[in-house]
Amino acid sequence: MRHYAPGEIPQSLHRTWWVPLAWVALTIVALTATPVLVSVRVQRVRRALSDGTNAARVAVNDLEVAISTRELALQQHDATAAAAAERRERADELALDSVLVYVGPSTGDEVAQIRAMEREWQRSANEPAARARALTAVLDTTEALDQKLARQADAERETIRSLERANVISAVVLAPLALIATGLLFWVGQRILFLAREATAGRAALDAALEEKSAVLRGVTHDLKNPLGAVYGYGELLADGVLGELSGEQHDVIVRMQGLVTGALRTVSDLLDLYRDEGGGLTIERTRADLNAITEACVADFAIAAQQAHVTLRLDRADRDAIVVTDPGRVKEILSNLLSNAVKYTSEGGEVHVTVTPPAASAAAYRISVSDTGPGIPADQRDRIFDEYYRLPGTASLPGNGVGLAIARRLARLLGGDISVDDAPSGGARFTLTLPATDG
Ligand code: ADP
Repeated sequence: MRHYAPGEIPQSLHRTWWVPLAWVALTIVALTATPVLVSVRVQRVRRALSDGTNAARVAVNDLEVAISTRELALQQHDATAAAAAERRERADELALDSVLVYVGPSTGDEVAQIRAMEREWQRSANEPAARARALTAVLDTTEALDQKLARQADAERETIRSLERANVISAVVLAPLALIATGLLFWVGQRILFLAREATAGRAALDAALEEKSAVLRGVTHDLKNPLGAVYGYGELLADGVLGELSGEQHDVIVRMQGLVTGALRTVSDLLDLYRDEGGGLTIERTRADLNAITEACVADFAIAAQQAHVTLRLDRADRDAIVVTDPGRVKEILSNLLSNAVKYTSEGGEVHVTVTPPAASAAAYRISVSDTGPGIPADQRDRIFDEYYRLPGTASLPGNGVGLAIARRLARLLGGDISVDDAPSGGARFTLTLPATDG
């Protein structure tokens, strides 16, 4: 577990903090970009209007005037005025050409039509009737073009007005909204940081308190273990009659006292293991070991306890060598725990059956099972019995602390195996220790 100093912020939260900042930045970019883009568009439309549509209207009107002036000069046979009017006509046509690029392609056809009509009008110089018709047509067409350009100018002005309105709306409505959103995001960010600091400070304080508690318990359990061991030793001296002959009753009392001390010693060493494990102190020392021999030695250790409890103890060794690389001391510790439970929770007349099964062809693990004819473990409790300090309801009257299986499973996992529980064929519980079949 990673420990944080008070106030230190986990790396992941540093990353989370940038998310609201990124949002703020995006919002600001969007809000700045919108008016800029709208302004660019307004400028374009304005240029089309001033350099294009309006200028084109002026050129079309000038052309109309030049054509009328030339016609009048021709009617009055004033060649000089007619030539001047014609020059103006050419100049107006050139001006029209240069501004039409801003207006767009839609007016190109009308201008080409006006030129064709002008030529028609000049060609019919000697036929007054045809000339009058051509003149009317060219003037009507220039008039129509002028009106079209006037409508286009109105539409462009309207576009400019609506774009400017959009800019005002974004400034008036969106800017305050953006400010509020930015403020909110900033506040949320601050809150996240504050809570993160609080959480890490709380976590660090909790870790420190737990470590302190573990240290105290480690000290206490360690200090208890030695005097308890000594008490057991003195009891043995008394029971063996080394310090003088005891009466039968006195001997029984000493044996009972030894039983109680053994239970207390087991509790103390369980607790020590537990706290060593929390501090990463459970060590494993691997060597080549014979699982048949280890199991046999364990079963022998429990022979007297089983006899006293009037429980039959039976062992089926593996039918071949069961050599693995493991920690024999830890395997014995695990099996002792399973055997002591099996004997403890099986009533008089029952049986505890231990089997060592070598790996099947498809598996790569040895299995050592301890089955009993006790009350068994209800299916919904099978995970919980491996929790520290958990005991099944109804077992409080029997000695125990609810720690043995928790440690046994941890040790089994440290050895690369596990412990599982199911129903024994005879009705009680069956605990199975699996160990990897590595022979070094
Ligand atoms: P305890 O010291 O209480 O035996 P354990 O961790 O060894 O602690 O076991 C946890 C609980 O699991 C026991 O309190 C008991 O309720 C249940 N238990 C363990 N082994 C057996 C068994 N062989 N038969 C029935 N119940 C068992």
